[in-house]
Amino acid sequence: MDAALGVPEKMADRGEELTPMLSQYRALCERYDDSLVLFQVGDFYETFCEAAEATARLLEITLTQREDSTGTYPMAGIPIDNAESYIETLLDAGYRVAVADQVQDPDETTGVVDRAVTRIVTPGTLTEDELLATDDNNFVACLTEDPDRFGLALLDVSTGDFYATSARRETTIADEVSRFAPAEAVVEPGVEADPFDADCMVSPYDAGAFEPGAAAETVATYFGSPDARLAADAEVRACGALLAYAEYARSGQDDRLDYINHLTRYEPREYMLLDRVALSSLELFERRTVHGDAEVTLLGVLDETSCAMGSRELKDWLRRPLVDPDRIEARLDAVEEWTRNVREREAARETLRDVYDIERLIARISRGRADARDLRSLKDTLDAVPDLRETLSGFDSETLAALRADLDELEDVRALIDDAIRPDPAREITEGEVINPEYDAELARLRETEREGKAWIDDLEAQERERTGIDSLKVGHNSVHGYYIEVTNANLDSVPDDYTRRQTLKNSERFYTPELKEREDEILRAESRADDLEHELFREVRSAVAAESERVQAVAAALAELDVLAALGEVAATRDYVRPEIGGDGIEIEGGRHPVVERTQQSFVPNDTRLDSERSFAVVTGPNMSGKSTYMRQVALVTVLAQTGSFVPAASARIEPVDRVFTRVGASDDIAGGRSTFMVEMTELASILRSATADSLVLLDEVGRGTSTTDGLAIARAVTEHVHDEIGALTLFATHHHELTETAAELPNAFNLHFAADQTAGEVAFDHEVRRGAATASYGVQVAREAGVPDEVVARSTELLDADRGGTDRAGDPDASSPEPAPEVVADGPKDALAARLRELDVATMTPLEAMNALAELKDEVE
Ligand code: ADP
Ligand code: MG
Repeated sequence: MDAALGVPEKMADRGEELTPMLSQYRALCERYDDSLVLFQVGDFYETFCEAAEATARLLEITLTQREDSTGTYPMAGIPIDNAESYIETLLDAGYRVAVADQVQDPDETTGVVDRAVTRIVTPGTLTEDELLATDDNNFVACLTEDPDRFGLALLDVSTGDFYATSARRETTIADEVSRFAPAEAVVEPGVEADPFDADCMVSPYDAGAFEPGAAAETVATYFGSPDARLAADAEVRACGALLAYAEYARSGQDDRLDYINHLTRYEPREYMLLDRVALSSLELFERRTVHGDAEVTLLGVLDETSCAMGSRELKDWLRRPLVDPDRIEARLDAVEEWTRNVREREAARETLRDVYDIERLIARISRGRADARDLRSLKDTLDAVPDLRETLSGFDSETLAALRADLDELEDVRALIDDAIRPDPAREITEGEVINPEYDAELARLRETEREGKAWIDDLEAQERERTGIDSLKVGHNSVHGYYIEVTNANLDSVPDDYTRRQTLKNSERFYTPELKEREDEILRAESRADDLEHELFREVRSAVAAESERVQAVAAALAELDVLAALGEVAATRDYVRPEIGGDGIEIEGGRHPVVERTQQSFVPNDTRLDSERSFAVVTGPNMSGKSTYMRQVALVTVLAQTGSFVPAASARIEPVDRVFTRVGASDDIAGGRSTFMVEMTELASILRSATADSLVLLDEVGRGTSTTDGLAIARAVTEHVHDEIGALTLFATHHHELTETAAELPNAFNLHFAADQTAGEVAFDHEVRRGAATASYGVQVAREAGVPDEVVARSTELLDADRGGTDRAGDPDASSPEPAPEVVADGPKDALAARLRELDVATMTPLEAMNALAELKDEVE
């Protein structure tokens, strides 16, 4: 165990002898022994002994000594005002932090002040804005393991987003975990986190919280009966333990987290599965390679959202593309409506740009952590709702009409905040200037007393000048002595009897009168009671608003969804995207583009794709840098976009939803990924072969390169046959193994595609156009010639190559045929094109005339 955690050695066996303060510290270290305890002493959080040494080193703060009657102790402290940034560093170093605050007022306490842990900061339970990225959720996961199932619950404590799911043990839950990329995973003591493959801090937590009865009870206090919402014990246990953990992390405050009132239970199958490898190799959220200039990812090019809530929502949509055609169409309808209504789109996006992150605001309000400005921000945002409803009034897609109908204008909440809270309130909530005086009769009376008293004092100077005849007499105020009447030394003779001396200065004396003192006390009393009353009223208003969290959250969710749909409309309208047709057989894309590469490239060459159950497997060949990887990813990204409900970068597209996208990028192509062993490559390949279905889209990029050519080719061939014969998944296989083109030619549902090189200008250039058939294998030799390798060596290479290939078909050889545009039907040759046309004819439903015409057409084509 880390020496900085638990009871320091020096304090371990001397509980009795320590000073009361240090024995408090010792007790807290003992109780919170998995966290680093920050112990409030006045304006600082202190750490002692081993913890002091560790924090001093990590935070680069001074290590000092504390000396008392019992000994000297190393000590290091951080200023409370600036604590969050230090806490962040401690989190980054892998610590949980228990913050122990003074919970008694030192002025009102004799002896040592009590301290208690008021929050435990862990990577997964952050709520402080300073520690959170605005446009990203911060999830804590909870993982359970039952004999037959794995359970998974996910919670964002800063927003209240809560998800639960489970999976049979033989399937994998790790993919679900990686989808949400949690910052922390809570597990039952003794349960291995391995099957979850969680790449984050793992926090074992109280076994009692995982116990089925206890967990069900916890869930019930938040959401009612767990049976009605959750499908398996493993889910109940995960949800219950996770809620208990979230409460534990806020220890010291109200136990319940009222704003967590919505639980989304889902089946992994309801969404397109994108595992960690796919997320990374398609660069949905993060760039995989370090080279390249900007941070260009799919999220990056798509994120035209206007507010933080929309941005988080978009990420959630991309993380979990849909598979149900109706749900996809519903989103597409809404996006299409935004593309058509340009003025409304502009107006809505403009409005949304000004909204605050009310999802996090309401969570903070519920936790009793919000100040008066937060409430005002909430009101300002809610004020935008009527405008948005107005903007949406002409819309008739089901989604947008429903969003509009459900948008709650929350007039009561807005009115309450507007009546109670000043327009520009103070930050501090305990010192007045927060509540409108008219809001409360008693407050109004106190403020009036205060005002009258001050007015009386304002008049005092003139009155006293007249009474005493001292023209230079002044009435003033200072924070130490309060109100005074100042008389210069020259006039001291004229001072009346009822003046009492308060303070002596060099050239003057300051006095007060019984009446002034009385007024002053009155003002102070009124002021202090008014400040207290304001604080009390503020807390009342905050609680009243918190009681409406569910309604505010519904508005937040609606704003987020509107923002995403409008952003997708903006992208579609401004970047020449089209609405994909959903359904049919397989994937058919005309003039498809890679959404990210097209943004970074001077010009982008669109390409066609057609994959269906009878032409499911494409082997893609061509020289390095000709565009194979880009082409394959483009197909996957267009599919992901379509299933997210977005328009797609293409001239036209028809997509039959896929259940999962698999990607495997060969080890040699994945240097930056740092997982360049052949073993990893094969492990991932094995998982594809095990889990892919006929509804999956599989991208294999240079698989089998990490080993000797013979092995690699054998593996590539075996994989091709297996995927083709047994699985039938839609597959694109880019390979440098030219021999694989022969395999493709032999298999009925496989075909060849290739990219060619153009060498007319004396140097190698690519037109990035995908063509039917296989690429030539002699490309390497041509490059050797370009590079100036002596003629006789080149000639000999060609000879060897020809012998090796034994006169295989050389379709697509850039030497043999001039580059021709890809035909409409991507196929191996005219015969296949014809076969494809014939297959499309539905003879059973044709009239004889239609049949005759079709026959005539086909005949024309052959001739
Ligand atoms: P390969 O996988 O065949 O080695 P890549 O797909 O990595 O080739 O593409 C190499 C480079 O060519 C890409 O980085 C991109 O800049 C460019 N490129 C690829 N496809 C296209 C295209 N269709 N239009 C324009 N440029 C492209
Ligand atoms: Mg490549």
